[in-house]
Amino acid sequence: MSRHYKRVGLISLPTFLSLWRERTGRYMDLFGVRAKMGSLRYDVFANNASCVKCGITGTFMALEKSYGQKTDSFHFNLYAVLPSGQERLMTKDHIIPRSKGGSDGIENLQTMCTKCNGKKADKLEEKHVTAQTSNTGVL
Ligand SMILES: [Zn+2]
Repeated sequence: MSRHYKRVGLISLPTFLSLWRERTGRYMDLFGVRAKMGSLRYDVFANNASCVKCGITGTFMALEKSYGQKTDSFHFNLYAVLPSGQERLMTKDHIIPRSKGGSDGIENLQTMCTKCNGKKADKLEEKHVTAQTSNTGVL
């Protein structure tokens, strides 16, 4: 259970995907709340529910809302369950970061768990520093 989200319900990924594919609008009433059904993340997870780095697979969707979020609607987050029983949030990752001109299109998005996504961010930070150094050399 994430500390940052208010959670109202859980459904398996296959059940979510059939609901999502049959949706008639942007929102659905589920678990007594308004659930957002239109999100590019769902397209990414429908294509591949496994982390491209470590391979863990998201198995269920939790209908959640960030604490302090102004909107009254909830959205689904994909989670994998680790052998320890701990949950890990899955995210959509930009293959080419937005800061490097990468698009928000589905072709530039992939599924990554929060742990691997965190590591990737660190690496990009290192690369960024290297790039700045070499740019200085060129100038
Ligand atoms: Zn991972």
